[in-house]
Amino acid sequence: MSTSAGHVWQNCLNFIEDNIQIQAYKTWFVPIKPVKLEGNVLSIEVPSRFFYEWLEEHYIKLLKSALTKELGRDARLIYVIRMENTFGNKLAHTESIPSATKSIQNTQQVDAPLNSYNAELKNPFVIPGIRNLEVESQLNPNYNFDNFLEGDSNRLARSAGLAVANKPGGTSFNPLLIFGGVGLGKTHLAHAIGVEIKENYADKTVLYISAEKFTQQYVESVKKNTRNDFIHFYQLIDVLIIDDVQFLSGKSGTQDVFFHIFNHLHQNGKQVIITSDKAPVDMQDIEQRLLSRFKWGLSAELQVPDFETRISILKNKLYRDGVEIPDTIVEYVAKNIKSNVRELEGAIISLIAQSSFNKMEITVELAKEVVNKFVKNTKREVSIDYIQKVVSEYFQMDIDTLQSKTRKRHIVQARQLAMYFAKKFTKASLASIGSQIGKRDHATVLHACKTVDNLSFTDKQFRKYVDDLNQKLTL
Ligand code: ADP
Ligand code: MG
Repeated sequence: MSTSAGHVWQNCLNFIEDNIQIQAYKTWFVPIKPVKLEGNVLSIEVPSRFFYEWLEEHYIKLLKSALTKELGRDARLIYVIRMENTFGNKLAHTESIPSATKSIQNTQQVDAPLNSYNAELKNPFVIPGIRNLEVESQLNPNYNFDNFLEGDSNRLARSAGLAVANKPGGTSFNPLLIFGGVGLGKTHLAHAIGVEIKENYADKTVLYISAEKFTQQYVESVKKNTRNDFIHFYQLIDVLIIDDVQFLSGKSGTQDVFFHIFNHLHQNGKQVIITSDKAPVDMQDIEQRLLSRFKWGLSAELQVPDFETRISILKNKLYRDGVEIPDTIVEYVAKNIKSNVRELEGAIISLIAQSSFNKMEITVELAKEVVNKFVKNTKREVSIDYIQKVVSEYFQMDIDTLQSKTRKRHIVQARQLAMYFAKKFTKASLASIGSQIGKRDHATVLHACKTVDNLSFTDKQFRKYVDDLNQKLTL
């Protein structure tokens, strides 16, 4: 970098910093590197094409003012885009002549030595016709507000959800983060908000997607070199619902892309709804900058429903299914199954099934039987020993082999899978998992979990191992 480029850019930065919000400054200007200055032409390096497009779209006037102040009326700016994928070290250059009098499209003069990029350098925000794009919402109409029963445990989240549904992007609940344990209604509520928005605003583009699927799509897009298309697609959404965001833990590439999408949507007044099994403060391996975004809006917790709410959820379910059961029995179930709504529903469904299979009346006795079985079943925690047994049987080796010090690939993989599932299905700490699976340390277990995560995306065969084992262990 020539000192003069650095000097000029530093002066520009001082000016820019005084004129925009600190957060925007940090996000969009701090990462820029001055490259060189030739006459009145300053070259700056930006981290991605998306970044450049964003600057052009949102900060072109500011950049122009800063540059004219430093370099005079004929100041020019060249963006050097650090290539995101492949193409070795080649850089794409994009030249821009900031001019407040011209529209953004006109200012985007492309001076691309790599001609093949010309087609791509269109501003993604104005691709004609793309607004008409139909997006399948992926919403489940059976999850709506009508059948999401209200109680103390969910009042805040539910009413925030309703407020958002009435005015997507127009409340301070943006993003709306719904968090809570398994089976407490996060997915249901997230869909309900989407469904309600579709009802209120038919032409808004709503998209529900699990963080897992989002990650898969992203990984695919990187493989196919369509990362930009991926980003642009998500930037067109009016209401983006991402379920189980904890899935992004440790996946820094996906977090990064979600960060950019999030910023774009948020700054354009679009609504983002996120669910997670943890409060933001407890999320692990999620980048700080993303966590801080999550805290911008409202975090609303879904708690374990109290007895009254459990009763009304059960009664409502029975009513919708057209089944009649004496109150005493409903109360018995509600009293004994407390941990979450999914189990509550599960118990009542097996109760109904039992009685109709066996042509039995639903009595308290029967309810006791079912509930006992149910509580026992769901309490059964998979042990680490059991996981090792299942994994080694699956790979036809014995447990000693699985635990041995060998570096043979297929044995290492089996061991890593065992560690991964131990982390997934037990509450044991990484250290304790390590010590039980071949006396390894916690870092090895952590590494194993990450490796399994990665391989299951990149390797079909491996993915099948994970799915098979998952099924065996949850049966
Ligand atoms: P989570 O995503 O938090 O694991 P789900 O949204 O999948 O939980 O909810 C589990 C089940 O419980 C679903 O069938 C859902 O319809 C039901 N459920 C949860 N909360 C409520 C509620 N307040 N009223 C009615 N049904 C509920
Ligand atoms: Mg869910």
